[in-house]
Amino acid sequence: MKNYNEYIKLLESTKVKYYEPILPKGSKKEFIDILIKDFEKQLKNDPKFAMYIHDKPVTDVEEIRKFFNSDDINNITHEVIHIKQQEKYPKMFGYLLKQAQKDWDELEKNNNITKNMRGYLSNPPEIMAYAFSYIYITKKKIGEDMYGKIDDIYKQIGGEVYDVFKKYVDFYEQNI
Ligand SMILES: [Zn+2]
Repeated sequence: MKNYNEYIKLLESTKVKYYEPILPKGSKKEFIDILIKDFEKQLKNDPKFAMYIHDKPVTDVEEIRKFFNSDDINNITHEVIHIKQQEKYPKMFGYLLKQAQKDWDELEKNNNITKNMRGYLSNPPEIMAYAFSYIYITKKKIGEDMYGKIDDIYKQIGGEVYDVFKKYVDFYEQNI
């Protein structure tokens, strides 16, 4: 992405619509295997590819597996949803993941919706995955982190993004 305006243009061209929700079933180990397989596939396509763990590029699979093992099941399932989305709905993805990560960092820092954040959270894959994370966290009563506040943030975004988010929330509420 050359610049911010280009990014915004891309976001505006991304259609917000409701897709049949994905709810991965399996154990933590099975989910981690899916993430590792996806990492290996990406590394094969791009030898410069790396996973960033605490801002450090990592390509060693065992190190990545160790990180996932220590990670929260909610985060892991959220990422598995993204992988399944790419298989099932490739057109759902219209943005650059690197930019999305920057946006995420900004949200964590400021806890407010900048223009960027609105774009990031309005992306169709994220609307579904965050609805999952929100219900998962709420039902399991895990911590008071970003995910727990995500409903308020989507409410602030409003419009059809919030309508679609609510529809996913209804689905996950009934199925998790
Ligand atoms: Zn996500």
